[in-house]
Amino acid sequence: MKDYHRLDEIQQDLKQNRITCTDLVAYYLNNIEQGKSLNAFVEVYAEEARDRAKEIDQKLSTDTAGPLAGLIFGIKDLICYQGHQVNGSSKILQGFESQFSATAVERLLAMDAIVIGRQNCDEFGMGSSNENSAHGHVNNPLDETRVPGGSSGGSAAAVAANMCLVSLGTDTGGSVRQPAAFCGITGLKPTYSRISRWGLLAYASSFDTIGIFSKSVEDNAIVLQAIAGRDGKDATCSSRSVADFRTVQPEERYKVAYFKGLLDHQGIQPEIRDHYQQLINELKAAGHELVECEFPYEDYILPTYYILTTAEASTNLSRYDGVHYGYRSPQTEDLESMYKLSRTEGFGDEVRRRILLGTFVLSADYYDAYFTQAQKVRNLIKKATENILKDCDFIITPTTPTTAFEQNSHNSPLEMYMADLFTVQASIAGIPAISLPYGKDTNQMPIGMQIMSGAFEEEKLFAFSKILESKTR
Ligand code: GLN
Repeated sequence: MKDYHRLDEIQQDLKQNRITCTDLVAYYLNNIEQGKSLNAFVEVYAEEARDRAKEIDQKLSTDTAGPLAGLIFGIKDLICYQGHQVNGSSKILQGFESQFSATAVERLLAMDAIVIGRQNCDEFGMGSSNENSAHGHVNNPLDETRVPGGSSGGSAAAVAANMCLVSLGTDTGGSVRQPAAFCGITGLKPTYSRISRWGLLAYASSFDTIGIFSKSVEDNAIVLQAIAGRDGKDATCSSRSVADFRTVQPEERYKVAYFKGLLDHQGIQPEIRDHYQQLINELKAAGHELVECEFPYEDYILPTYYILTTAEASTNLSRYDGVHYGYRSPQTEDLESMYKLSRTEGFGDEVRRRILLGTFVLSADYYDAYFTQAQKVRNLIKKATENILKDCDFIITPTTPTTAFEQNSHNSPLEMYMADLFTVQASIAGIPAISLPYGKDTNQMPIGMQIMSGAFEEEKLFAFSKILESKTR
């Protein structure tokens, strides 16, 4: 079977009886089997996917199939699917089974998409390389000595290696966009609150979003449209109506902001700077208006993110106590040692580091100095970003300061946190951002470019993305 990169190609071939859903599922299962060394999937729903495929083939033959028939997707190990395990790639949730499905999963299934398996990630979404997983590392399909990015590394690797057409990941500070850039595919973090967080294991609730990996902008839009919008189970989920993203046509001329400082920023891989310059030139040549901007809070973005997200994580993760879910230490002697040992043994190093940091910034003596201060800076960053977007349609930046790095090469947490340098701004501001593949470095590793737009402007973001996509094909 040929390698499909878009749902419309699949649906056309289904319609003309050139393939069946059963063939498609067999094809993806075979790719998963062949690509086992990537460690992208932690569980494959082979039997279930085959059964669903048969059912949907039946429906297709009577013209009663749903609009997403032929869409085979995977889910990050932080997203619940009823009756199946979800571990957050953590030992502490070992053996834990979801009691219900995430709204996003339910909506895709209701439209006759097929879920093929659960994908590896950094523990509770904390990481940028997928090296913090109780299920082991994930390898980048383009060069297995390199990381796929994180935290949704398995979800990105799976789409890049044709193990499913799309994946649902999560993005708190870049966990969809950064691995999409590292694996050479498209990754969207929508506006905060666009997609229900029901059934998503919480990391930092005021930042967490479900995000989408695909090979085309079109498929990304189709999936967003299917899963976005009001959900009675998540009071923070926006009730704004969701436009038909598929019919979106780009305008001739956009006003696009770029950060001049990034063009000679020493922390950025030179080939990425060159591609950024090339993108700016190309857009100018195509008739768009490019506006040079400064961002006054650049140095405050990462510290703000790491103070606020660790604070939220420390409270969110307090529920994993050895009593309610998953792992309980066998060494337990009394109640206190049960809590202490279960949490110490159940969480990995990075998660423990963040719980400690988060507990510290929330402690009575330091609350004002760190947490309150960071909330204020968050507001400044948000306002300054919104101000640029009042005047301009988009802001473009590289997605990451480097391309995919070697496994085990980033040993200090700070070095790892730098991987999020460009992605966290949109997370702090709550605005949508997409990463698109845009060329390669000299090692043939993909480079990603990020586009941010105003809140709830995904329609416009997709329209502009289509222009860039046509340039990089
Ligand atoms: N790498 C970032 C972190 O470790 C982002 C993670 C995410 O978006 N889930 O926090």
